[in-house]
Amino acid sequence: GARMSEPIGIFGGTFDPIHNGHLRTAFELWQALRLAQVRFLPTGDPPHRGVSLASPELRLQMVRAAIAGLDAFVADDREMRRSGVSYSVDTLLDLRREYPERSLCLLLGMDAFLGMPHWHRWREILDLAHVVVAHRPGWKAPITGPLGEIMVDRGTGNVRDLHASSAGKVYVRAVTQLEISSTELRQLIIGGHDLRYLVPDAVRELILASGCYAQRSS
Ligand code: ATP
Repeated sequence: GARMSEPIGIFGGTFDPIHNGHLRTAFELWQALRLAQVRFLPTGDPPHRGVSLASPELRLQMVRAAIAGLDAFVADDREMRRSGVSYSVDTLLDLRREYPERSLCLLLGMDAFLGMPHWHRWREILDLAHVVVAHRPGWKAPITGPLGEIMVDRGTGNVRDLHASSAGKVYVRAVTQLEISSTELRQLIIGGHDLRYLVPDAVRELILASGCYAQRSS
């Protein structure tokens, strides 16, 4: 069917834990870009951020719980299954082998996009996928430097460009601003606060049941 040729969204993150900012962003991009699906890829050992606090298995379990009920949202554990650090470029090479012709859209918050020039073999990423950037509170699009140049060379304001080719464009999209970060949520837990309405109920319950984030290692 037609959906078989529509772009696939790829949303990577530590998801430590996944929260409504992630979910609403993915949902709005899924709708706005007419994506066939959004694949959520929890990192194994995050390359830029040290070790995650919840285990990869628990982070995956929280992702699965968060996206249950929307068929177009899919949990993808390929980064966790790989041993050691996963670089985005390797993940995209892997997905490209699986979907040789498909439009692939790497979904990033603006903060993540601004960090891209520090990523391993980052320039190859645009040979493998489009990059779709969601505005995040407090972050401005780059106008200078390597990303400024990429915005000039590769930028598009047209969703159709993301369907017409399989990789190579950069598209910036405003989404509803939910100023939630995983770091802040972990701080709330340590302070004894309740995450209700910041994360899906099922994620809140997994956090409570597992006790993750609650105790600091001494
Ligand atoms: P931390 O606070 O631990 O840095 P985070 O909340 O930023 O975590 P990540 O798992 O690092 O979450 O983010 C994964 C992706 O989701 C990144 O592309 C990031 O820009 C994006 N993202 C995170 N929080 C939001 C939010 N509130 N709104 C939109 N995008 C977000």
